[in-house]
Amino acid sequence: MGKVVLITGASRGIGAATAIKLASCGYKVAINFKNNTEAASSVLEKIRRNGGNGALFQADISDEKAVVELFSMVEEKLGAVSHLVNNVGVLQTQMRVEQMSAERINAILMQNVTPYFICAREAIKHFRTHHDTTRCAIVNVSSAASRLGGANEYVDYAASKGAIDSFTTGLSLELAGSGIRVNCVRPGCIYTDIHADGGEPQRVERLASLLPMKRGGTCEEVANAIAWLLSNEASYVTGSFIDLAGGK
Ligand code: NAP
Repeated sequence: MGKVVLITGASRGIGAATAIKLASCGYKVAINFKNNTEAASSVLEKIRRNGGNGALFQADISDEKAVVELFSMVEEKLGAVSHLVNNVGVLQTQMRVEQMSAERINAILMQNVTPYFICAREAIKHFRTHHDTTRCAIVNVSSAASRLGGANEYVDYAASKGAIDSFTTGLSLELAGSGIRVNCVRPGCIYTDIHADGGEPQRVERLASLLPMKRGGTCEEVANAIAWLLSNEASYVTGSFIDLAGGK
């Protein structure tokens, strides 16, 4: 059976670049998104123009039932998922911890942490039922914020990414014996829409000169690392982290 990758949040940003990259590597690509049908359609169009194969799957991955249905729909349309990129991550307006409500903190954890577990759980079932597990892999998209802390901006988001780092380590150990590899990328300042959600669309421009490499990163640079971690070239790599943060 061919390689089928599900990428959560693939209509924009890092997820979109990863979808395009993985399609060019021969994966059938399941492009998940929440609302932006137009952006998702343009990713699929690009993939098809390049001779790749994929399909769109609208689903809110913070809804457990929707995730279970998502995996069934992907199986029906493209074949059972053999690779997963847990990519959706959200942040809220920049503020200090002393201003944060429980409602805000819980919303971040429910979007950024629980869905990674649930998507992995469903992926593992599909790997075991339909594939040679030694060819299956998961990449989690964390953040350099998990190491740096997000002070004065979004410590809640940073802590949610710290949870993803621990999740990567724990899950990789649970699955190592079956050959399923679980790895993680930790991007730094990447040019995407996420910074506008935090209330500062020009955040990367503000921080770029302070970074050791003196520039922000591109979605394609992150996508290349994800593609390598998923590929058989990384066949002895599990529980590992690639930092894509310009030296920070
Ligand atoms: P982005 O440009 O804001 O894109 C967000 C994507 O996630 C969109 O495709 C959006 O779909 C989708 N999405 C949001 N909530 C969803 C949900 N509940 N269900 C399904 N899809 C959902 O994000 P990004 O900057 O590429 O970030 C991708 C990952 O990289 C995140 O985990 C983020 O934390 C991490 N990261 C980013 C940076 C950075 O500087 N950009 C740095 C470190 C880590 P719609 O288009 O339908 O809204």
